Amino acid sequence: MPVVLLGASGCATVATVHPRVAADLGTASRGSALEASLARPGVVGFEQVAFARWTAGRAAFIEWDDPRTAAVPKGTEEATIFAYVIDHPRFGRYLIDGGVSRDLEPRLNPLMRRALRDLDVRIERTTGERLAGEAAPRAVFLTHLHFDHVGGVMDLVDGTPVYVGAGDAEERNLMHRLTGRPADIALEGKGPLREWAFAPDPDGVFAGVIDVFGDGSVWALSLPGHSPGSTGYLINAVAGPKLVTGDAVSIRLGWDQELPQPLPKGARAEARASVEALRRFAAAHPQVAVFLGHQPLAY
Ligand SMILES: [Zn+2]
Repeated sequence: MPVVLLGASGCATVATVHPRVAADLGTASRGSALEASLARPGVVGFEQVAFARWTAGRAAFIEWDDPRTAAVPKGTEEATIFAYVIDHPRFGRYLIDGGVSRDLEPRLNPLMRRALRDLDVRIERTTGERLAGEAAPRAVFLTHLHFDHVGGVMDLVDGTPVYVGAGDAEERNLMHRLTGRPADIALEGKGPLREWAFAPDPDGVFAGVIDVFGDGSVWALSLPGHSPGSTGYLINAVAGPKLVTGDAVSIRLGWDQELPQPLPKGARAEARASVEALRRFAAAHPQVAVFLGHQPLAY
């Protein structure tokens, strides 16, 4: 989201000081094993849920200083906060990203509340409302720790395990200081963050690949750049394989035209490599449905 809220500068602080441990789930694997899993029938239930919408100038999403964006007219983008409910026949229910909680906004500091008011974020449903009367998720797999991906974790029962890519908690940024680290608030009561331990993918399909349950049904993909620990997920769903990119690609301009996001200079090469890996993977496997961070791919 609003990467414009996240420009790098001095006086930086980390994304969260919440305690962290190594993930107790998942095994580092390789791209060829992930690709082989696509040929088997999917077993996982998969639902994309829209929680909130906002409208923002394109500068929040693409880098005007980059010559590749020169032909793009100024304008706005409609964005949605998504999360995903996945149901594994043996291991149960999990969430990908946290959705939205009404308990977050009143706890934010004045600057962050003002930024949200300016964005006019319209909540359509909360995580608590979506999950009411159903099995509680056994854990949340985050794409990254920005507030629009972690906020809804507040609606889950205390102690729900939360997984995130290693390095994400340590993203240093001036805005984390100004905004009072919303991830700290969202994660209160949730136990330590469990960090995916990616190892380099020997096949080079992605920077790293983790077989989450050890049965090839759900994969965590290392996609650094938008944030240091940005993680995508590949779900071998009953209705066919689904690729959740997180904000490695947040809007269609980033996918269709590969336009770069506004990011600190030091993160741009990594971000570009992650987008290229995703696009190569999707082109090689056209049966995979792609779910971008904040917009539907088809419209
Ligand atoms: Zn983000």
